[in-house]
Amino acid sequence: MCIDLHLHSHYSDGTLSPARLVEMASSSALSCIALTDHDTVEGINEFLEEAQKLNIKALSGLEISSKHRNHSIHILGYGLDHKNSELEKWLMPLQEDRNSRNKKIITKLQGLGLDIQTEDLKTISNCGQTGRPHIARLLLQKGIVASTGDAFIHYLRKGAPAWVHRFTYSASQSIAMIHKAGGLAILAHPGQITPSPDSLPLFIGELVELGLDGIEIYYPGYSSKVRKKLRKVAARHNLVITGGSDYHGDNKSYTRMASQINGFCPPDTLLEALYEKIDAFRNRNL
Ligand code: AMP
Ligand code: FE
Ligand code: FE
Ligand code: ZN
Repeated sequence: MCIDLHLHSHYSDGTLSPARLVEMASSSALSCIALTDHDTVEGINEFLEEAQKLNIKALSGLEISSKHRNHSIHILGYGLDHKNSELEKWLMPLQEDRNSRNKKIITKLQGLGLDIQTEDLKTISNCGQTGRPHIARLLLQKGIVASTGDAFIHYLRKGAPAWVHRFTYSASQSIAMIHKAGGLAILAHPGQITPSPDSLPLFIGELVELGLDGIEIYYPGYSSKVRKKLRKVAARHNLVITGGSDYHGDNKSYTRMASQINGFCPPDTLLEALYEKIDAFRNRNL
């Protein structure tokens, strides 16, 4: 059976509620799922409760934007205690910075002569974390751009006129916090990181030194050749392997849940090693 350990809800930049994601996963016969919203665990309660109701295996999770050697990376945390108060406090600067950054982006857009208000954003995103994908949707809704992709190209991407920097923790800080909250730290979509493919093994090796526990090898679009290369790196460092779709609902209309993508099926055989490592980690910290 397939699993999907990388899902976004409307608490970050997905469109569906955590409960709806669980229903979809259940009707698609996925055997295990994880909610991995950007920089927030607000949706985890709803997600785990619905999963229990529908009798589907589920893991708590989140995806933290981080940096290592000036490269932007995303680190997934799995099996952590989402009610950990230190984690909640640690996430706060990320969340507060997003809010002030959104206001700065809107001010820049207004400076470009566009009719767009911070209040308008609430019609697109009314819970959890609001970010550039929501602003892109607002620009589309107002007919200012032809697609959300265009919104990034013309206004929101790095170097574009309404670009604003966002605060991120270092990989080392993110991994340490995930561990403190009892979770495993996994490198998300390693194929999307900027180091050249040749330097990726070295880059991952450095993250392992910082405590990285695993890498996401099953990701939509990764060829078997890419997976084989990543598998070698995982074996060298004794890393767990995970996989997921990065489904965002209609916010990224090209994304689909695992089992709805032709040929994309992270196998549930990955779970044994993953749960083993989570359990070993928990026992070590008891
Ligand atoms: P933020 O966290 O607010 O900086 O937004 C980052 C999110 O924007 C990423 O997770 C992507 O989902 C999306 N994104 C970033 N760059 C682009 C792009 N060029 N086109 C479409 N979506 C993008
Ligand atoms: Fe996203
Ligand atoms: Fe990501
Ligand atoms: Zn993601």
